[in-house]
Amino acid sequence: MPYMIFEDNYRQKGLRRKLVEQLRKKGIHDVNVLNAINTVPRHLFLDTAFEEWAYKDNAFPIDCEQTISQPYTVAFQTQLLEVKEGDKILEIGLGSGYQACVLYELKAKVYSIERHKTLHDKTSTRLKTIGYSAIRTFYGDGYLGLPRQAPFDKILITASVKETPTTLLAQLKINGLMVYPHGDHKDTQIMTRIIKRNENDFQQEAFGQFRFVPMLKGKE
Ligand code: SAH
Repeated sequence: MPYMIFEDNYRQKGLRRKLVEQLRKKGIHDVNVLNAINTVPRHLFLDTAFEEWAYKDNAFPIDCEQTISQPYTVAFQTQLLEVKEGDKILEIGLGSGYQACVLYELKAKVYSIERHKTLHDKTSTRLKTIGYSAIRTFYGDGYLGLPRQAPFDKILITASVKETPTTLLAQLKINGLMVYPHGDHKDTQIMTRIIKRNENDFQQEAFGQFRFVPMLKGKE
């Protein structure tokens, strides 16, 4: 692998600070989450054609007809996860890798699954090139989770699910959290957080409407 020198200049740093200010105004209050967003160079996760807009609070298309989530959505989901240093976190839907890097900046041990081979390979290379090689990426079906690496402190699903995946709940530690957009693929979804109180005792909370690409079954 040739070493890629990437630019993260004053302009990009300035735009990132402005984005963080916007997120604060929109209600993101967790300082650690805001610091993480202020650190990850989002312009490196978009195709060069969209680089200009990397620090706007918008979602953008990436490979395989997928999207990099809007920064507000990334911040919102991350805040709900209440990440603590050393947390073992499973992300479903690696996509561009941006969300995984935000979790990594919060000092979590990050595992992330992607069902698109092309996207998995491209993003895994990107993460290594820009210095995030400690994030563990997996090509597979997120509905199965990672039984060999389980249990996890937190699970984050970044695609919409119609029915709560019980296989994933089984891979959570007691008192672990799972955050996911719950609802029909065609409509908006309700941001949902489940706390696993016990093997058979789950507490569920709802946090407003969002729109995600669907979590699909099987590998691509
Ligand atoms: N977290 C990503 C956003 C990804 S969009 C980012 O920061 O860029 C949702 C991603 O979930 C897509 O890449 C899609 O391919 C993936 N996905 C959908 N269903 C999946 C499944 N069953 N297992 C793993 N990944 C899945």
